[in-house]
Amino acid sequence: MKKNLIYLLFSVTLLCAALTACSDNDDLDSTSVVRPTTTEQNDLDRWLKRNYVETYNIQLKYRFEDIESSMGYYLTPASYKQSVAMAKLVRHMCLEAYDEITGSTDFIKAYFPKILFLVGSYAYKTNGAMVLGTAEAGAKITLYNLDNLNPKTVNAKTAYFKTIHHEFGHILNQTKPYPTDFAEISGPDYVQDQCFEIYKTTESALQKGFISPYASKADSEDFVELIALYVNRSAEEWEEMLTTAGDTGRPKIEAKFEIVSNYMKSTWNIDLNELREIVLRRAEEAPNLDFDSLDDEDTDTPENSGTNE
Ligand SMILES: [Zn+2]
Repeated sequence: MKKNLIYLLFSVTLLCAALTACSDNDDLDSTSVVRPTTTEQNDLDRWLKRNYVETYNIQLKYRFEDIESSMGYYLTPASYKQSVAMAKLVRHMCLEAYDEITGSTDFIKAYFPKILFLVGSYAYKTNGAMVLGTAEAGAKITLYNLDNLNPKTVNAKTAYFKTIHHEFGHILNQTKPYPTDFAEISGPDYVQDQCFEIYKTTESALQKGFISPYASKADSEDFVELIALYVNRSAEEWEEMLTTAGDTGRPKIEAKFEIVSNYMKSTWNIDLNELREIVLRRAEEAPNLDFDSLDDEDTDTPENSGTNE
């Protein structure tokens, strides 16, 4: 009896191993984008080596051989064309914005995650919530939904770039913590995973003192949402949000934002007003970048060549 049980367990183990192996193979065969790691370097790889690896020490991964994503999601790879566009957009709208405000590439080189991973499809959680981006332990940012990127219509509020400012904010916080009094302002109001159930509209979140529904999740999310949403909005648009927040929401958002703004200035020497100006200008320039050529990395940002010093 005992022997049979052991045999049964052994069989189940073998079956599991076989199933795992099969599903891996199926995934590998299902699309031509998936290639062995010995793949020859293409134009994008060479461009990334010059403009991401050598400039920032960042690996931008877009092939599924590189997949390091959560196995909890069914994901498809980003196409070559979309990956080229995103590589140029992230550089122009995010990385170079920090270069410009800090005066060199050292800031991004030191603090930005070493891996930026691009995925074609959305990722959905079991509760139906859509995941736009994730950051893991300061080491990697994943951007989803490259399939729906239209580089000609991007603007400052396009979700991918807001996501990068959000995730990068987490990394800065993890490197140098923000003052503990931030968490006290909305203390009992944080609702963890119920944020989207409780706040179905931005308006309802604003009136409770949160800049977005997601900001009500926890103080760490609140903090980086304040950064990400501030730099992507003009002064008028920000004021409009505070007006919507009204008598109860506005003072809380303003009190929290003051801590955020002071932290960015005193800890990182970054003036959020100045960063916002840079981000908004670069977002306006973004649709006119050259998304076809990968030859010369300087041709797509001639107007900024004098401002990065
Ligand atoms: Zn977050």
